[in-house]
Amino acid sequence: MIYLDNAATTKPCKEAVEGAEYALLNAFGNPSSLHGLGIEAEKLVNFSKEKIAEALGGIASEIIFTSGATESNNLAIFGLCENYGRRKKKIVTTAVEHPSVAEAFARLAQKGYELVTVRPDENGEITEDALVSAVDDGTCLISAMYVNNETGYVLPIERAFSRIKKLHPDCMTHCDLVQGFMKLPVRVKNLSADAVSVSGHKVYAPKGVGALWVKKGVRVAPLLFGGGQQNGIRSGTEPVPAIYAFGKAVEANLPSIAERLESAKELNAYMRKTLAEAGAEINSKESASPYILSIAVPNIKSETVLHYLEQQKIYVSSGSACSRGKKSGVLRTFNIPDKVADSTVRISISGETSKDDIDRLAEGICGALKNLVKIK
Ligand code: PMP
Repeated sequence: MIYLDNAATTKPCKEAVEGAEYALLNAFGNPSSLHGLGIEAEKLVNFSKEKIAEALGGIASEIIFTSGATESNNLAIFGLCENYGRRKKKIVTTAVEHPSVAEAFARLAQKGYELVTVRPDENGEITEDALVSAVDDGTCLISAMYVNNETGYVLPIERAFSRIKKLHPDCMTHCDLVQGFMKLPVRVKNLSADAVSVSGHKVYAPKGVGALWVKKGVRVAPLLFGGGQQNGIRSGTEPVPAIYAFGKAVEANLPSIAERLESAKELNAYMRKTLAEAGAEINSKESASPYILSIAVPNIKSETVLHYLEQQKIYVSSGSACSRGKKSGVLRTFNIPDKVADSTVRISISGETSKDDIDRLAEGICGALKNLVKIK
């Protein structure tokens, strides 16, 4: 099997699986319980807070565990607007966000917020200037992703957020870091962000766990009300096995981020060359994250390519997994013509992907171009 859909989800690493099993068998207490079993469970939660904070360059008390980045994004967006948007009603995001950001903004717009959406320019770039000039003194929140999940495009968040904070210190800044976390060397202190979302299952941990980093002193209003766990920001008994697995996955992979980034860059260059030779068109910019490569297999529908490759046990994605065949619109927003977007597949690699895997993919694409019925 050749798994090239790591931006959709990753295979949990050994350390994560063992961590989950350890927590299930040995630390099944409720982390809020005052007895020893509760304290044991709480220790595992605290371990993971430390690890995720370390990976982000923050501190453990700034980490809130959630059910995944969809919840982290919703918590940040609604929670920040509730506390900082009483008088300021303008909210800013980009046209290339994941639906968990885009739909949250659409909901706020329905509730009366003034929504400003920054679109890529004619070169498919979301510029620092465009982000900065979208914000004014009436803006309560800007939310923008670090790496786009469909193309790997890297937005200029650090520079834009830092200028925004200097010009409008009261504007809250949120970054969806899901596709950059544990891949690119991002540190929250360089990001000028008030809140940052990450997800476990994109970094070799199980599905159903994510985190929101909230800068010390920033107040996020809760989405869930109940027992007041996690300082009242996220009620609900913490899923200790998933949280501990998340911490263990981060611990295991943290030391090799730089090394893996180097090999991802090398593999990305190899993919661009090999797949272009096989007849694919490359959509992703050279400056994109090396972990994601959007390509088009000319004149063949994305789903047809996907299923053709699947017969050879090569797993890729059409656009993004979240849009499930629905046109997400993000490719078009990046100025990729409809005809190219209809033939686009996304290749997303992991630390385990090899050149042999890419050679097999290239053979598969050659086969697809030879054997499949073309769209006119
Ligand atoms: N943001 C981005 C950029 C993503 O790629 C994803 C996952 N597709 C999410 C948010 C949502 O994450 P989760 O699956 O953990 O809810």
